[in-house]
Amino acid sequence: MGKNFDVVIIGGGILGTSISYFLSSLNKSKKVAVIEQAKNVAFHTSGRNTGKVHAPYLYNPEKKKLFANAAFHGFEMWEEYSKLHDLPFKKDGVIEVALDKKGIKVLEKYLKWGKQNGLEENDIELLDKAEMKKIEPEIKCEAALYVHRDGSADYSTYTKSLMQDSKENGTSFLLDSKVSEIKKENGKWKITLNKEDEIFASLVINAAGGEAVDIAHELGVGTKLTDVHFRGEYWRAPKQYNNLTKTSIYSVPEFPDYPFLDPHWIIRVDGSCEIGPNAVPVFSPYGYDKTENFKTFLPKMLEMIGSGARKAIFDKQFQELAMSEIQSSMSKSAMVDRVRRFLPKIDADKITEKGTAGIRSSVINDKGKFEPDVILLDEESSFHILNYNSPGATGALPFAAHIVNHLHNSGLFASETMDAHCGPWKFSEIVEKLENK
Ligand SMILES: Cc1cc2nc3c(=O)[nH]c(=O)nc-3n(C[C@H](O)[C@H](O)[C@H](O)COP(=O)(O)OP(=O)(O)OC[C@H]3O[C@@H](n4cnc5c(N)ncnc54)[C@H](O)[C@@H]3O)c2cc1C
Repeated sequence: MGKNFDVVIIGGGILGTSISYFLSSLNKSKKVAVIEQAKNVAFHTSGRNTGKVHAPYLYNPEKKKLFANAAFHGFEMWEEYSKLHDLPFKKDGVIEVALDKKGIKVLEKYLKWGKQNGLEENDIELLDKAEMKKIEPEIKCEAALYVHRDGSADYSTYTKSLMQDSKENGTSFLLDSKVSEIKKENGKWKITLNKEDEIFASLVINAAGGEAVDIAHELGVGTKLTDVHFRGEYWRAPKQYNNLTKTSIYSVPEFPDYPFLDPHWIIRVDGSCEIGPNAVPVFSPYGYDKTENFKTFLPKMLEMIGSGARKAIFDKQFQELAMSEIQSSMSKSAMVDRVRRFLPKIDADKITEKGTAGIRSSVINDKGKFEPDVILLDEESSFHILNYNSPGATGALPFAAHIVNHLHNSGLFASETMDAHCGPWKFSEIVEKLENK
């Protein structure tokens, strides 16, 4: 093949595609490529999530500043982008419920965090039990946080649309192409695809989702970090349940220090309802089935035992949590019971169809702790985005703009202009908004 590119982005998820969208809008004479091993973009996590455009109330502004800021701006950006391209977007809100007195304190904290992260008085309100009963009579809870500035989307469709825009700006999308090796050769990156084709790049951007840590390690970056993969499974609810609630319902997580929540009652953008996701430990970012997990079990266990993940996986609380997640994978009623705590009307026997599972890859540091925020690592001619988890889809557009701006300011990749129009926005104005908050 033998092709030369200025920038190669590894990963055609929502993040890699959003980065290509901005880079190609600002750099009309530069050659940008996105490499994706699957047959289409958003084939993995970006197309297998809950589809919520999350308001930033769950994120501690001190520990998850970047995620919170990106989620705040992501809401209006997706609203504008979907309007421009006539894509599905609904401002349908979300309700977070407290099931006991302890949970009410957590809701009060979320209300404070939400406002610190930019939400206004009419975006978020705390409801007592009686107020909540009037709004959602089927929901059993002690109190609730009604977040009005929250929405539902279809991130797979958004990513495909961004790919189309990027292609029109000249970006090459090399699909069905797995990066099998990366090496420096004569001052450039030689990237081998599917173990045979070769392309060359001056800068590599690693936006490889569940493989981002492995690719960073291959380039000698972030070697003290490792990752653990969790499969989030869903069950589809029958049509008769479509009007049980007006809004999606989340519950205060039992273990807030772990990087996932308890299963929710979800109303998707098309109006269908689902239960999920749980978070079952698996051994690969593609561990959707037994065959893949069996194949990857031994190497992943050895990797984890030889790294900081050892402390996490031998932690008693983590083991208990993992066991309960595994149980909710093996037994449908165990999963449904977690949602019945606040929506008692649902009956596991009526729920028969599985939804599409997605996998999150959480980064663990050498002290055995889960990293709370996204990790950005600069190297001489490569840039790595690790731990890009929820609400990563919500924040993908502003976060990608932040990265492109960072590459420009750090000298890793100086864009030709910072003033170009990208869809409904002027790039410099997006950056100004991000920097001011
Ligand atoms: C169960 C679940 C529910 C979620 N719900 C929400 C939600 O409601 N709202 C929200 O905002 N966020 C949600 N998220 C988080 C969100 O989906 C992710 O943060 C986001 O999709 C990550 O995007 P990405 O582009 O970084 O990764 P990915 O979508 O994983 O993309 C990375 C891509 O890189 C490719 N790749 C990797 N290695 C190679 C290689 N060697 N060669 C070629 N290609 C490679 C992969 O094939 C993949 O397509 C959820 C996540 C999960 C798991």
